[in-house]
Amino acid sequence: MSVLLGCIADDFTGATDLASFLVQSGMKTVQLIGVPTEPVDLSGIDAVVIALKSRTLPSEVAIRQSLDALKWLKELNCEQYYFKYCSTFDSTAKGNIGPVTDALLDELEESFTIICPSLPINGRTVYKGNLFVNDELLSESGMRNHPLTPMTDANLLRVMASQSSGKVGLVPFEVVSQGAQSIKKAFTTLAKNHRYAVVDTVSNSDLEAIGEACANLKLITGGSGLSIGLAKNFQNKGLFKIRENSADLSKLTGTAVVLSGSCSVMTQKQVSQFQKHHPSKKIDPIEIASGKTKLDEFLTWFDQKRTAGAVMFFATDMPENIKQVQEELGVERASEIVEQFMANLVSALDKRGVTKFIVAGGETSGAVVKALNPSLLKIGHSIAPGVPLTEIVGNSPKLLALKSGNFGDEDFFEKALEMMK
Ligand code: ADP
Repeated sequence: MSVLLGCIADDFTGATDLASFLVQSGMKTVQLIGVPTEPVDLSGIDAVVIALKSRTLPSEVAIRQSLDALKWLKELNCEQYYFKYCSTFDSTAKGNIGPVTDALLDELEESFTIICPSLPINGRTVYKGNLFVNDELLSESGMRNHPLTPMTDANLLRVMASQSSGKVGLVPFEVVSQGAQSIKKAFTTLAKNHRYAVVDTVSNSDLEAIGEACANLKLITGGSGLSIGLAKNFQNKGLFKIRENSADLSKLTGTAVVLSGSCSVMTQKQVSQFQKHHPSKKIDPIEIASGKTKLDEFLTWFDQKRTAGAVMFFATDMPENIKQVQEELGVERASEIVEQFMANLVSALDKRGVTKFIVAGGETSGAVVKALNPSLLKIGHSIAPGVPLTEIVGNSPKLLALKSGNFGDEDFFEKALEMMK
C-alpha cells in the first residue's frame, strides 16, 4: 500500500501536532524534517508530514520550499495533499498562507480548496468566517500583539483575499451543521466561481463532517483538526484499514537521558519532581563560559551514573538566577552557551550509545534535534496533549520526547520514561 496523505506543515511543532492527530486517527505517520535529500523507506506508512520552517519567510522563499515539498510528495502519488498552518492563521501581511495555497493549487492543477484552521478543543473556532480564540475574536486576542505575525483582522475571508489571488467564499454554520452532504454540495456550488471556501466550524463533530466532505478534494488546507475525519475517507474508499497499532514504536533498551533547558514554571516543577528519584547534574552557563566546566566532566559523571537507568542534565533555573546569568553574559549569549553545550552533550551521548532522550524546551529541542540530525521521525502515542513520543528510525534507532515550555504535568519526565520502556 502506498502513502495516502502527503502533508506540508509551515513549522516543526505544527507538523508534530498534525502527525499526532493522524496517528490517533489510525494512520501510521512519519514526520520528515525538511525535504529529504536521500531516499527514505516509507513502507507501511500511510501519511507523511514534511516539516518546513516557512511561516515567516519571505513569500517567494516559502512558496519555493512548499513547492519543493509538494513535488517530492507527488512522487509518492498520494491520494490527497494537506497544507497545515496554525489554528490562529498565523501569517504576515503578505502571507504566507495565501501565496503558498495558490502555488500548491497551481502545481496540482486544481482550482478549489478549503480554508479550515479551527481546532475547537483548543478554543479555536470559526463563525461567519470570523476566527475566535476562546471567547475573543482573533484580532482582540493576544495574537494581535504577536511579534512576528500580528493578527489584526479576525475575518478569514478578508485576510485570505488580501494574501491570495482568488475569490474567497464561505460555507456558513447553517450549512455545516446539516452535515457532510450539505457541506459537499456547498463546496460544489462555491467551486464554480471561487478558489477558496472558508468553512465555519464550532465543534469536533463539525470537523468530522467537513473532513468527510473533503474526500474528493486533491488539496485541503487547515489546522491539525481538519485531519480527524480523513482516515475514515480512505477506509471508505477501500484504500486502507484504520490501524489499531498506528502509534507503535520500537522497543529500545538502555539508559534514558533527560535534558532540560526550559525555565518555564511547569518545567521547574518537572525537574524538581524527577530529581527526587534520579541522578541529576546542573549545567551552569557561567561556569561553561569561564571554561571551568568541561564536557568531559559531564561524560565521566554520566558513565558513573548510567546504571541508574535514567539521568537528568538541566540548565533550568529560577527567574532571578536566570536574570543574573543574562546580566553577566547577555541574553543571547547565555542561551547560545546552554544550547551549544546541550547539543555537544547529546552528540557525545549518542556516540556512547544512548537511545532515549527526553528534552524540555522549544529552543532546546531545536538544538538537540539539530545535533541528532534525523531525517525521519516516526510518531507514537501522546505523552501529554500535543507531545507525542517519537522515534528516529534508521541504522541506530532512538526514542525522542520533545516538549516545549509549559507542556505536560509535573510527572511528564517519568511518564515519558515509562512509555519508552
Ligand atoms: P521554553 O520552551 O520553555 O521557552 P526554550 O528551550 O525554548 O524553553 O528556551 C529556554 C532558553 O533559556 C534556552 O535558550 C536555554 O538555552 C536558555 N536557558 C536555559 N537555562 C538557562 C540558564 N540557567 N541561564 C540562562 N539561560 C538559560
